[in-house]
Amino acid sequence: MLNYFEKIYLQDTLSFYNLVEKNLSKKKRMFIVTANPEIFCYGEKIKNVNKLLLDKNTTIIADGISLKKSANILGYAVEERITGVDLAIKLLDICNQNNYKLCLLGAKEEVLNKLIQVIKKDYPKIKLGTCMNGYVENKDEFFEKIKKEKPDVCLVALGMPLQEELIYKHLNDFNKGIFVGVGGSFDVMSGVKKRAPKMFQKLNIEWLYRIVVEPKRIKRFYQNNVKFIFKIKKLKRNVK
Ligand code: UDP
Repeated sequence: MLNYFEKIYLQDTLSFYNLVEKNLSKKKRMFIVTANPEIFCYGEKIKNVNKLLLDKNTTIIADGISLKKSANILGYAVEERITGVDLAIKLLDICNQNNYKLCLLGAKEEVLNKLIQVIKKDYPKIKLGTCMNGYVENKDEFFEKIKKEKPDVCLVALGMPLQEELIYKHLNDFNKGIFVGVGGSFDVMSGVKKRAPKMFQKLNIEWLYRIVVEPKRIKRFYQNNVKFIFKIKKLKRNVK
């Protein structure tokens, strides 16, 4: 587990955005994992997830506040959380400013269609490549298609760890492009789901909002965050 923490990007959101922009303009390929405790737990259970997290070409950012706090407890100076949904929105902005090509995989068909409408209206200079919903049987087909399109940015919203495993499986077919697994971001960006009000975001209690709106998330929250913090405290005692 500690070796995953070692890989978390340390600086603030703006520095990270600058890095992404620089890589985009240099056509340097990047695979970004927007991590929360869940993916680290999967890493301990699933060989392939362990491999992709530790790959030197994988960039890990701390999306969840409990991951940022855990990193700090363990002595890693992660400055702030960098959320997947903010990163996804920023990437749309960058693509619009530079006429970059964007491909999308994930979410329900009606959500994806709404997102495509939003992009066409609010980000008119984006070149939209293949967009595929996340419920098609053969998701590898998406990567086969976009191989020829050579996107600058590819957002995959299937939930973890499937989105990361799929990206990792196909990554070597690409020389450039920013590839990110963005979880439920399409639901928010399309306007289908509301994001937590600004106050919740500022206080880092976005998770509380998500539980109130979707109570079935409470089990997942307990498993991945409450239990996780205890695990980290134990780890910290053993490290000392
Ligand atoms: N999803 C999908 N295909 C699937 C399962 C899930 O496209 O087979 C989508 C789902 O519609 C949602 C996203 O994946 O848009 C996962 O969202 P969730 O809120 O669970 O992710 P989180 O942000 O919590 O990681």
